[in-house]
Amino acid sequence: MPRAVELRLDVADRVQHLAGQHYVVRLTAEDGYTAQRSYSVASAPGNPLVELFVERLDDGEVSTFLADVVEPGDRLEVRGPIGGWFVWDGERPALLVGGGTGVVPLVAMLRTARELGRGDLLRAAVSTRTLAELPYADELLEAGALVGTTREPHGVRPAGRLTAADLVPLWEPGQTAYVCGSAGFAEAASQLLVELGIPATDVRVERFGASG
Ligand SMILES: Cc1cc2nc3c(=O)[nH]c(=O)nc-3n(C[C@H](O)[C@H](O)[C@H](O)COP(=O)(O)OP(=O)(O)OC[C@H]3O[C@@H](n4cnc5c(N)ncnc54)[C@H](O)[C@@H]3O)c2cc1C
Repeated sequence: MPRAVELRLDVADRVQHLAGQHYVVRLTAEDGYTAQRSYSVASAPGNPLVELFVERLDDGEVSTFLADVVEPGDRLEVRGPIGGWFVWDGERPALLVGGGTGVVPLVAMLRTARELGRGDLLRAAVSTRTLAELPYADELLEAGALVGTTREPHGVRPAGRLTAADLVPLWEPGQTAYVCGSAGFAEAASQLLVELGIPATDVRVERFGASG
């Protein structure tokens, strides 16, 4: 069983997205029952396809369908791009803090920065159970992201959550912070940032929680 799936969608009449925005995928059963879930865009706006990264939750209604049933060439009903707050404009310095699949919109920001030749604007710290479970691990490491692993050591870093000591060297005045992950991760990470002295108004949060 795949743990996750990357979907690359050729969206008809597409409106170009901004890094950080998401799409809603809607499934409709033969009896008319529908289920819809949000998925962040991983690709940079310039990419002709819209790339989504979906983690497969064993008891998940929509993620199991997308991971197990959908095949190349299938048609999906999508709506987007959505979101006006959790977006990076490609100009301002930012600190990206992601947990698990919460790294997906941050990857779109890093890819956008790379396309603009402005990798210097972004700093990133991400948290994952193990490196093998981190979406886009190679790309994040290549972009210089600090990677914290909670279930295994990573390099000289012991297993554990991100700490203030991890974030201090990445923080610079003037940055906007983008925090994305589960509700628990988002809460803990934004609290860390505010404790570091970052004004709460400069912290933008996206929570991927249950969205039944
Ligand atoms: C703005 C936004 C962007 C998102 N982007 C992504 C993305 O890029 N990639 C991605 O994989 N997901 C993303 N999500 C989460 C996604 O929308 C779904 O919630 C997720 O795929 C689970 O849906 P499901 O139908 O498979 O599970 P459900 O049938 O809804 O739930 C199954 C079980 O899993 C629990 N659960 C639901 N959601 C989660 C979760 N996110 N983490 C842990 N447990 C959960 C439920 O409580 C339930 O017990 C995003 C959510 C939001 C709000």
